[in-house]
Amino acid sequence: MYIKKEIREFIEKMPKETKLTKDWVNFIKKIDKSYNLLIEHGKEEYECTNCGKYSYGKLLNSKNDRYYDICRFCGKKLEVRRSNLKNYFFLYSFATVDNMNNKLIIRYYEVYRIYNCVSRRFNDSIVEFARYVPELDVVLLNDRCPKGQNIYHYKKIKKWRVFGGKYYANDDYKYIYLRDIDEKKKGTSYQYIPLEDVINHLKDLKHGSLYRVFKLAKYSSFEILIKLGLYNLAFECPEKFNIKGSFENRFGVRKEFYKFMQKNDISYAELEVLRVIQNPNIKNIRTLLRISYSNLDDLKKASKYINLVDFVEYSRKQKNITIQTYLDYIENLEKLEIPLTKKKLLPNDFTLAHDISIKKINTVKNKTLRKKIIERYKKLEKNSYKSDKFIIRPAKNLNDIKDEANQQHNCVYTNYSEKYANGETDIYFLRKIKKPNESLVTVEVMNGRIRQKYQKRNTKTNKEQNNFLKLWERKVLNVA
Ligand SMILES: [Zn+2]
Repeated sequence: MYIKKEIREFIEKMPKETKLTKDWVNFIKKIDKSYNLLIEHGKEEYECTNCGKYSYGKLLNSKNDRYYDICRFCGKKLEVRRSNLKNYFFLYSFATVDNMNNKLIIRYYEVYRIYNCVSRRFNDSIVEFARYVPELDVVLLNDRCPKGQNIYHYKKIKKWRVFGGKYYANDDYKYIYLRDIDEKKKGTSYQYIPLEDVINHLKDLKHGSLYRVFKLAKYSSFEILIKLGLYNLAFECPEKFNIKGSFENRFGVRKEFYKFMQKNDISYAELEVLRVIQNPNIKNIRTLLRISYSNLDDLKKASKYINLVDFVEYSRKQKNITIQTYLDYIENLEKLEIPLTKKKLLPNDFTLAHDISIKKINTVKNKTLRKKIIERYKKLEKNSYKSDKFIIRPAKNLNDIKDEANQQHNCVYTNYSEKYANGETDIYFLRKIKKPNESLVTVEVMNGRIRQKYQKRNTKTNKEQNNFLKLWERKVLNVA
């Protein structure tokens, strides 16, 4: 793997390992308190591995085998284990933000907390196994974590390597050591970003990893968004706001909406709706997103017909209305050339009005279809042909096709009526002269050639029928 010179030099210069400072150790000790057990000695006699004191009597009622209780002295809720417990351990990881050679670096550690059954206390093994350098966009792993998966505590660090695979997927930013971060970020490209604020905020949000934060923080707009208190926008898509100029230029809404945006920590989808409705009401905005499945294009389309704020009000009185069904309804009205009066735009019962519009459309459709098929018959009638035994003729009308489909159990009605009406294909029925009303063979002709021919239930035609059809093809359809 080719590694940039800048990265190689950084790896060479950075310290392989550093001692844990007293302050870090205290940070870990604090986390450790929750990784303990209550050791049950006798009946309802518990020794706490955190504070070492004994409590008597249950505090919590638990029906499961695996149960928890609260230490009466340190107040920790811990799992209860019997005193014959031999082996037990906890694993957790934490990160620290550090500065190495004027680059900000996130260092990942794993704490392997092992139970000693003699002293009935836990001891920690704390090892560093990964580093992420956001400015170089590189993840480094050492001998303890050769593949970015398992971590081996007993291994010594010989070398740090660039990890070429996907980023070490540790999204565990639950424990992150941020002390002196303002000092550490000095001279790095993150020096103006309120990192402590950002990372603390990240804990409350579901925006993903630290890794992502540092990636996003590369956009100058990230810093601006954070400082404006628009965290959702900052974490979601700072790249969309990398626009210089006025507030309105950057956000696409007037500055007077800023307070509203900040108060609701507006998301990008919400901002998009705000741009359309120009009305700072978060409840309305969220309702619009819900009833449109967050489809902004559909919302914009609907807004051409109706004020969306009025629509929210209207939707509250209707059952099962969405922007999509509403747009279907409008489309139907337009097809039917019905004027879009206020009464038509906001019918009292939307579901009913919607269904009626569909019925009307279908009636119009059927009417046109019927008319077209009759015209097709007139045009193709000249291709009718008969022998002593058989007759073949085009489909006469829609009912004729429906009847053929029912008798033959085929799909000529559902799949071919429209194609036939529109002249995309020709449909003929082959019957016995003596039984002209009884279906025998359904024939499709396309570009002057027989494309399909079937008896009942799509079974093959017999020799006699084939001979007749061949003759017809040659004589009438003029196939060379
Ligand atoms: Zn305790």
